Amino acid sequence: MISKVIPEEKIIATLKAINKADKIVIVTHKSPDGDAIGSSLGLYHFLYSQEKATDIVVPDSVPDYLKILPSSAEIIERDKQPQRAESLLTNADLIFCLDFNEPSRVGALEQVLVSSKARKVMIDHHLNPGNFADVCISHPELCSTSELVFRLICRMGYFSEMTLETAQCVCAGILTDTGGLAYNSNSPELYTIIGELLGKGVDKDALYRQLFNTCSESRMRMMGYILSQKMEILPQYHTALITMSNAELQQFGYRPGDTEGFVNLPLSISGVYFSVFMRDHGDGVKISLRSVGDFACNTVASELFNGGGHKNASGGESHLSLDETRQLFVQSLPKYFKK
Ligand code: 5GP
Ligand code: MN
Repeated sequence: MISKVIPEEKIIATLKAINKADKIVIVTHKSPDGDAIGSSLGLYHFLYSQEKATDIVVPDSVPDYLKILPSSAEIIERDKQPQRAESLLTNADLIFCLDFNEPSRVGALEQVLVSSKARKVMIDHHLNPGNFADVCISHPELCSTSELVFRLICRMGYFSEMTLETAQCVCAGILTDTGGLAYNSNSPELYTIIGELLGKGVDKDALYRQLFNTCSESRMRMMGYILSQKMEILPQYHTALITMSNAELQQFGYRPGDTEGFVNLPLSISGVYFSVFMRDHGDGVKISLRSVGDFACNTVASELFNGGGHKNASGGESHLSLDETRQLFVQSLPKYFKK
């Protein structure tokens, strides 16, 4: 038996909103990860099974490694189809906001999202949910938005009708947001949910292999390069830092998603508790931060890089040069280690 985490009135409000809606749009955050795409496609397949026409809109591109998920090709990417993406949001009567807590997280779609007259249901697991949705289902204690989508579908009374496609997408989101059940995954109920997904026919082992152990030759070579040539260890701060310039990214034929997970690698080094990966995309520097244990890397993300996220996994952006961003970080480190 899975406990009732989402309050009953939010389940009822969401079900009502779905029943009333003719045009449903799901939107998720920029640089979407496995949980963003997994939760969106999981809900999309459920709504389709209930004969509710639904579109998924993302601010930029779906990374290649997530294109194995069923119907990922149907996702509308704003960077390729701006007008279509924006008009869907404007004309929707229900928008699901998945895996983000603030409208700024949808990048160039922020204004259209905020000004759309649609009812909005937010489903998310980041801290500090903003107040922009009519129904706010926010549970930072859960591992993933995908887990929340599974719980929502069950609580609305549709577990028996849940399709294999929904189960696969939900499982992909849970696996990617927990590093393959390696962190944020000590809740016993999570394994009850995984058991139910397996019961729906999900091949978890194959999914894991496709998500984590399938990549291009260039990604594998880039991983070797950053570990041997680019990783700096700052032992007095138990910190590892990796920077990648735009020229270096191009040298390895960078495609969205190619550097996913690299920030976690230095955390395998004994004595390293904080890892930071900075990459220059040409229009700004994207920063990924990870920590283990009590050190809250989201404080650093929000104070230095206008970002946020979870205690042990956060991100942000900088519009300084890569060198200046690195300098700012290195100079600020003593402050965080005094605390
Ligand atoms: P990643 O390093 O994988 O891009 O992001 C890790 C976590 O930090 C995710 O939970 C993501 O939602 C959050 N995050 C990443 N970038 C940003 C950002 O620019 N702003 C905020 N508020 N959160 C971010
Ligand atoms: Mn997530």
